[in-house]
Amino acid sequence: MIKIKVSNLANGRFDFNFNGKVIDLEIPEPYIGNYNTNVVLDKFENQIIIDVETKIAANLICDRCAADFQSVINSKYKMVYLFQTNFNESVDEKEDIVYLHPDTDKIELSSDVRDFAILAVPMKRLCLENCKGLCPRCGKNLNDGSCNCDEKIIDPRWESLQKLRIKNN
Ligand SMILES: [Zn+2]
Ligand SMILES: [Zn+2]
Repeated sequence: MIKIKVSNLANGRFDFNFNGKVIDLEIPEPYIGNYNTNVVLDKFENQIIIDVETKIAANLICDRCAADFQSVINSKYKMVYLFQTNFNESVDEKEDIVYLHPDTDKIELSSDVRDFAILAVPMKRLCLENCKGLCPRCGKNLNDGSCNCDEKIIDPRWESLQKLRIKNN
């Protein structure tokens, strides 16, 4: 669990680092192995601001070539904790503000770390930025080299240019 004791914390800036198993935080697939979470905490008289960065390895499948690959995904978020006697302990999710009673002993980051990690999983997953994908004819992974049929496939966008070239020659 990722907890920071905030009672008796002096005003100022503090760094915390947490390591553990993704299973223990119930962080789901595609994440695997261990998380590493770095927290920079600024403590003021009546508020705490945290900047959180988490790095976790994930097992992904490339959208273009269907290869399995591993990638480390970074997720970051910022949260403000306000100490207020007038409020019951509550969360304003839109503003990323958490209201705390002044007697609060610890803040618990586990569920936020998990939620932001889940949000950080990319929609588009590529093994390489310029992954060449699979040949639509023979299915060969073109990252491993070109196949014999690729010369015969002409992108329609280039076809007229190709004809022009032939004419000029
Ligand atoms: Zn790929
Ligand atoms: Zn081919």
